[in-house]
Amino acid sequence: MFQSFYPKETAENAYEVDYKGLRARGYKAILYDIDNTLVEHNAPADDRSRALIEELKGLGFQILVLSNNKEPRVKSFADALQIPYIYKAAKPSIKQYQAAMVMLGSDEETTVLIGDQIFTDVWGANRAGMHSILVGQLAKHEEIQIILKRILERIVMREYEKVKAKEQRLNIKNDNLISIGGKTRITGLLGYPVEHTKSPLIHNTLAAFFGDDLAYVPFPVSPDDLEAAVKGAHALGILGLNVTVPHKSNVIPFLSEIDPLAGQVGAVNTLVRTVSGFKGYNTDLPGLSIAMRRAGFEIQGKNVLILGAGGAARAAAFMCAGEKPAKLLIANRSVDKAERIVEDIRNSGIMATENKDRDRDQDQETVISAVSLSDLCSVMSDDRFLAIQCTSVGLAPHDKDCVIDPGSDEGKAIFDSFDGGVDLIYKPAETVFLSEISKRGGKTMNGLAMLLYQGVIAYELFTGRWNGEISADEEVLNRIFSKL
Ligand code: NAP
Repeated sequence: MFQSFYPKETAENAYEVDYKGLRARGYKAILYDIDNTLVEHNAPADDRSRALIEELKGLGFQILVLSNNKEPRVKSFADALQIPYIYKAAKPSIKQYQAAMVMLGSDEETTVLIGDQIFTDVWGANRAGMHSILVGQLAKHEEIQIILKRILERIVMREYEKVKAKEQRLNIKNDNLISIGGKTRITGLLGYPVEHTKSPLIHNTLAAFFGDDLAYVPFPVSPDDLEAAVKGAHALGILGLNVTVPHKSNVIPFLSEIDPLAGQVGAVNTLVRTVSGFKGYNTDLPGLSIAMRRAGFEIQGKNVLILGAGGAARAAAFMCAGEKPAKLLIANRSVDKAERIVEDIRNSGIMATENKDRDRDQDQETVISAVSLSDLCSVMSDDRFLAIQCTSVGLAPHDKDCVIDPGSDEGKAIFDSFDGGVDLIYKPAETVFLSEISKRGGKTMNGLAMLLYQGVIAYELFTGRWNGEISADEEVLNRIFSKL
């Protein structure tokens, strides 16, 4: 309804317009309104307007002021800037817009009008067939007749914003955009909730990179619907699924098969389709391992402290146990859960398999132990530790929290014993836990790289590419990482 009033573009003010861009698009003439566009109402030309006009002349623009004001005001302003002018232009009448184009030797295709009012500047330019740029007015206080016009302008601009938003939606510039057809395979995520997941970015970018006809969709599934969702997903031909909180353990009874390591950890985050159902894997474990290796963290021969005993801590503890640390200490608020991990690691045989060159009994007795968080300080002695923070403490929006109180004497002593630290949390990018370690000169890493690699490994499992090493190239990984 208001189309003839809509500007072709808008800008914060006349000084924020992309003039180089206009020149590159072939525009060579600019018609300016004066009051509240180049200067405040009735103000003389100032240094800023002079500098702008000089710059525009340098870019090769022809410039003219087109004002509804009287000659003394318009002439003195234009003379100060050494540009031609038209006064009493009667905008939005198009007569003087056309006269201006004749004076500048331009035409509708190469001329731009820049002004702060819709019903004079912009409407006239649109009717004259030239490009129009509506700019924000420079003065905050305006005369009463202008204020009334502004109310009407706001109504037009509200509609304009809706049209622009729709245009933007139709003109999606998303390099992860997937075209879905009859052969597209679906992968996805089962969790509750799933709204904030970053996995679609990882999987859909990889599908575009590898040229796989795949689409990744998050599915919110409540615990009561989990079994039906897994069976239904198989019936629907879904190729693979990630599994997140709160289903990582509860999904196991509904699988046809489980990878032995995931079985030992007791949590799966990736389901891969087989003929008879889904096979469960845990890619958090190799994801963390690759992230730490690539960031230069060594575990072999070091003392490692795992903070937490939830699903992520279990994966971290099993991963570390397999890499021959000198000591593996697991500290949790509920010590029984940490003790269970220790027991499960001992029973898994992972240390016996990996630590072939050691005495197994000695490893089990001396290397790995559990402790309550409240007793942590007393068991740490003078050893130096690499600390892996796997609790949910410090996760946004509780950014100020830390599983070890950095203000207490015990907390300070604990932080002083850390050589480096990894926090599985990636939001915020630097938790209090990591900042305390880096303050002391320790090397740190957040959980973002683990998130990326666990997703990439899941993708490669879904598509049959996984052979123990990531095959996607570094450029695509860096590109995804920068967008996470
Ligand atoms: P989880 O199974 O719910 O475990 C939560 C852990 O945090 C438990 O050890 C719990 O101790 C501890 N905890 C919670 N509140 C505490 C408090 N106030 N004081 C002390 N300890 C507290 O969760 P999860 O799946 O292991 O995830 C843990 C964290 O890792 C989350 O922040 C998650 O976002 C992150 N994560 C990151 C990635 C990644 O790719 N970067 C992957 C997985 C998980 P109790 O046992 O005593 O309750």
